[in-house]
Amino acid sequence: MVKLAEWQGKSVFRKYGVPLPRGEVARSAAEAESLVRDGKVPLPCVVKAQVLSGGRGKGGAVRFASTPEEARAAAEAILGLEFKGEKVRELLLEEKLTIGRELYLSLTLDRTQRLPIIIASARGGVEIESVPDAEIDRQTVDPFPGLTSYEKRRAAKVLGLAGTQARSLDRLLDALWKVFQQEDAELVEINPLAVVGDGLVALDAKVIIEDDAGFRHPEYAEVRGDLTELEEVAREKDIAFVQLDGNIGVIANGAGLTMATLDVLKELGGAPGVFLDLGGTDDPKKVTEAFLLMARAKPTAVFLNIFGGVTRCDSVAKGLVEAMREVPANERFPLIARIRGNNEAEGTEILRSAGITSTSDLRASAQAAVDAARGRP
Ligand code: GDP
Ligand code: MN
Repeated sequence: MVKLAEWQGKSVFRKYGVPLPRGEVARSAAEAESLVRDGKVPLPCVVKAQVLSGGRGKGGAVRFASTPEEARAAAEAILGLEFKGEKVRELLLEEKLTIGRELYLSLTLDRTQRLPIIIASARGGVEIESVPDAEIDRQTVDPFPGLTSYEKRRAAKVLGLAGTQARSLDRLLDALWKVFQQEDAELVEINPLAVVGDGLVALDAKVIIEDDAGFRHPEYAEVRGDLTELEEVAREKDIAFVQLDGNIGVIANGAGLTMATLDVLKELGGAPGVFLDLGGTDDPKKVTEAFLLMARAKPTAVFLNIFGGVTRCDSVAKGLVEAMREVPANERFPLIARIRGNNEAEGTEILRSAGITSTSDLRASAQAAVDAARGRP
């Protein structure tokens, strides 16, 4: 579950054409003031805490300002808050629109029916949990045709929109449906959806992305905010690198072999601390780069477990030896290798001549890595 902050949700909305107030993000009171002073945010404006919990309106985390000084004061007050246990570090400043009614609209998955549903209510602007059930309309959507004019008409009726306003809803629902599908969302919620003249504007945005679809959306990995510094570097270089709690570095190729290697080390009493999946790479340059990244994680010992299918053992070995030379002598660690398969003999020779022992026996070499990490021979 990746919960996006309001401004992140809104930047997704913008991409798909959901109508929004003009706005900018600020991280300090001074920045908030200058955004207003420079006309990047029109006055009067709304200053909103960017935290993941709702109820900001009631909790003093949404304020209004009609001058740059007021914007600064509002920003200062909000940045000092700890809202429901979360420190406020970011603000969204937006033009304050003159709004008619406040509506509620969302798309989510109904897990019992295994279908997307539209939830709509004319009672927006308050938490949907506090709205009586009779005033909330839920309709399922067949994902194959997607939204049809039938669902849109019913939503318009529930929300009390007709004519031009209903046509605005039509377009908005199409955009929202696209967000829901293409971003693999489990929830997209607009509360309040404000009636502004003949149009509709999303004043708030709550977007939750389905974790299982994470591989389709590397852009959200950062939002998730749980990458370590080295993992962040690795992601930029497109290296599959994960840090764990132990002290043994693991380099393997392919997800299956990598996981199996972690299991074997664990079973033998070792504690993997970081692992690197070379995937199909045997490009010595890439191997060197990946290895140096691993060295920065300061493993006590490193276990290399390579199965050469398409990957050539000698290429991987070459990259490894190159890399080891670049690690300063006082930061070196024992390296235990187990290589098998394509060009195994050549690879073993390259490692041996660099003083690295290599066997083709998984258990024995894994045990050697565990012992080395414990500081035993
Ligand atoms: P939440 O309480 O955390 O869900 O925060 P919201 O983003 O929903 O904002 C709370 C309330 O602030 C909304 O229900 C609106 O009444 C009000 N609000 C936010 N933006 C505007 C705006 O541009 N104009 C006006 N008049 N009110 C706004
Ligand atoms: Mn809201």
